[in-house]
Amino acid sequence: MLYLITAALGVGLVIALKRLRDHRQALRSLHQAILEKRPLLRVKEADGKTTAGWDRLYSAANELIAEVAHLQQLRSGQLAQLEATLGSLQEAVLIVDAENRILLANKALQTIFPRAKDILNQRLEIVLHSVAFLNYVEAVRSGRAQPQHELEFIEGTVSLWLEVTGALVTPLNGDRGSWALFVLHDITRQKELEGIRKDFVANVSHELRTPLSIIKGYIETLVDGHRSMPIEDRERFLQTIQRHTERLNSLLEDLLTLSRLESINPGLHCESTVLADLIAGLVDDIRGRPSAGGHLLSFAVEPAIGSVLVDPLKISQVCANLLDNALKYTPSGSRIDVSARLQGNEVEVCVRDNGPGIPAADIPHIFERFYRVDKGRSREKGGTGLGLSIVKHIVQLHGGRVWMESELGKGTAFYFTLPQRPA
Ligand code: ADP
Repeated sequence: MLYLITAALGVGLVIALKRLRDHRQALRSLHQAILEKRPLLRVKEADGKTTAGWDRLYSAANELIAEVAHLQQLRSGQLAQLEATLGSLQEAVLIVDAENRILLANKALQTIFPRAKDILNQRLEIVLHSVAFLNYVEAVRSGRAQPQHELEFIEGTVSLWLEVTGALVTPLNGDRGSWALFVLHDITRQKELEGIRKDFVANVSHELRTPLSIIKGYIETLVDGHRSMPIEDRERFLQTIQRHTERLNSLLEDLLTLSRLESINPGLHCESTVLADLIAGLVDDIRGRPSAGGHLLSFAVEPAIGSVLVDPLKISQVCANLLDNALKYTPSGSRIDVSARLQGNEVEVCVRDNGPGIPAADIPHIFERFYRVDKGRSREKGGTGLGLSIVKHIVQLHGGRVWMESELGKGTAFYFTLPQRPA
């Protein structure tokens, strides 16, 4: 009897252990299938049938796995669609998850930050170097951010200004925490222009203020003391007022010329012009000036150039400004040579002097408005600091280029080109 009971218990134990092993194996397959997100194959029991309980569990698990796969397909489809839509945008778009990992970045972002390659799944702070931007991201997350924000990014040695707009978005994959979406608009050029405009206004105000305050001071002295003032003092005062009024006048003339040249309609009236005649006329005019008495002027124009299609008044102004400078900034006895030659399809004109030259550090700025190497000397000679800027504008309007070469103590050469068009 005892033997029978022991045998029955033994068989029972073996069956129980086998079931336990089957269940463990079934659980393992379930776990594996869920991890791999693939449908689950039914595990047959020893007798070739599955139990009803496991069958239901397998069906439910398979349905869930199919649903998850479907949702994932949908999500990657949505992300791909989003990427395709954002790819064509001019604005840079960036989506980060709750941990600031980059989920999406469109092409425009790569254009703005060319060094940021393969940035998907990288942390924002590693890719974009701007503490201000990271603070803005935090502000967006906490709902404190302004709708639009201007931020500076440092890319190597270059500073970029971007207008950033940020918003929280619901994660497409059902993640906890919010994703953040940023639209970045490159405003570096605008910022530069704004800076140039501010500098320009400051320069103009300064240039106007100096002669105006001198004129004002002298007039006040004259008003108060003209009765008791010796006649020669009065004359000196009036001459100073006249000189500064002329300075104001040339400044306003140059400013008006510049603004006309920069307007949509700069008023270019091109006509067939014999370049040699134009240059000869100018050199003759200059030779007649008392200030050119001690200078040696010469000109040489290649006969092959013939006529060019230019605005003769404006090109005369270019040559006159360059000749004027060569006279103003070189001592008496210096040589000034004007030459013109054919270079391929272009005519290259050069105004060269053997004066004191321009320091190398000043050369890159020489065509900027109000830039002067020696401020005092320029003002004393009636310069406005706008002459070379006008030269550059006129030459560029004709489709030409302008540049200069100079060596201290040896002299300066200004060059400009004009396209040679058959007249
Ligand atoms: P400005 O009205 O002061 O002459 P420009 O724009 O014509 O203004 O010239 C800018 C500066 O370039 C001048 O102030 C002067 O310092 C320098 N410069 C121009 N031409 C010469 C030259 N031939 N030799 C030496 N310095 C020159």
